[in-house]
Amino acid sequence: MPTLDTATEAVQAQTPVDGEPCVLIKLGEVVLKGKNRELFERRLADNVRAATRGIARVDVIRRHGVFIVRTKDATVEKIDALAERISDVMGIVWAHRAWRVGKDVESVERAALELMAGRTGSFAVRTKRRDKRFPLTSTELDRQVGGKINDVYGLPVKLKGPDHTVSIEIDRDEAFVFSGGLPGQGGLPVGMSGRGLVLMSGGIDSPVAAYRMMRRGLRVDYLHFSGMPFTGPESIYKAYALVRELDKFQGGSRLFVVPFGKAQQQIKSSGADKLAVIAQRRLMLKTGEVLAHRLGGGTLITGDALGQVSSQTLTNITALDDAVELPILRPLIGMDKIEIMDQARRIRTLSISELPDEDCCTLLAPRRAETRAKIDDLRQIEKRLDVAELADQLAESVQEHRPVYGDS
Ligand code: ATP
Ligand code: MG
Repeated sequence: MPTLDTATEAVQAQTPVDGEPCVLIKLGEVVLKGKNRELFERRLADNVRAATRGIARVDVIRRHGVFIVRTKDATVEKIDALAERISDVMGIVWAHRAWRVGKDVESVERAALELMAGRTGSFAVRTKRRDKRFPLTSTELDRQVGGKINDVYGLPVKLKGPDHTVSIEIDRDEAFVFSGGLPGQGGLPVGMSGRGLVLMSGGIDSPVAAYRMMRRGLRVDYLHFSGMPFTGPESIYKAYALVRELDKFQGGSRLFVVPFGKAQQQIKSSGADKLAVIAQRRLMLKTGEVLAHRLGGGTLITGDALGQVSSQTLTNITALDDAVELPILRPLIGMDKIEIMDQARRIRTLSISELPDEDCCTLLAPRRAETRAKIDDLRQIEKRLDVAELADQLAESVQEHRPVYGDS
């Protein structure tokens, strides 16, 4: 995990730079133009304000390609906490803790010296000018500030692969000086692409699927089917913990839980046999569709990956698509389990997914599942069950939860 490589102690030990610490945000998807760009930036600024509400009241100042996040009485600790929180907000490529200083060489030098205080090893200075009227060129300022650091600390300059990089950015009204930063998630701000409903199992895949769709700007709600009353509530606790963790990427998450055990039993006694798993999955999707319509969602999202398990063959996926009219998004469709697990680890859902529970899908499942489900056969089963009515009832029976990131 990268850290804010800004030598916190060294900065505090000395007289503060006459400037203020702030978070400098680099935006993603810079190719967006015109109206989309405006939408992106506005949405992102709102999302940054919402995500940081629990830490401090912030001002988000929009500049070309970057945001500046300021807060009153900013301390280094508060700014670090803000940067860390902001690095989870979708649409951001970097969150830097930066010193915001006067737009003159002397102020920039002073900040750069403080950033490098107490450090060893080589360094490089890199300047970017968003205001081209600044009297020195980028290379001139690199040399000037680099020379100063070299004079004062005797550290060697190394342009390729330095141990430390001091970044200077000259903006419209001020300069920013920073070293290191936190990589963001990239993607688009949540809310830019509409709303969807994630079918959330408690396994490894569906949380990653949710993450990947949020990263494309979708705001998501979650739907979990528990085996209750024939299983304990463990799978619900897991789904809750997963959604609470994923809430850091969007805020305001809703988890809907359906007790699914009785419906599963009905499927089983309808003689579904080898088709039981696909019939169950179709019922989940149909229930999801009813709920999505109620919530204003335009899509369903699952953690299916082609061929991963017997229910995820191409034929079976086709039979699942047939169950609903809403599009089903499957962001993991072409991913290996190893890749999915790596991503789950990075977003911190893996350890929760690996907790033991009693998955509703193993309940009442046949010993051998059908890998080539026939849609006509499935429709026959569903006719006997009056499945539309059943999906309505299940969607009526949901319990709503609001897991909040950071709550215990
Ligand atoms: P996961 O790791 O997400 O559980 P999986 O490899 O176990 O996936 P399946 O059990 O076949 O795969 O489930 C495929 C998809 O169906 C899941 O990713 C999820 O979107 C949905 N799903 C399965 N079980 C449930 C459930 N109990 N509640 C809600 N959605 C479910
Ligand atoms: Mg599963």
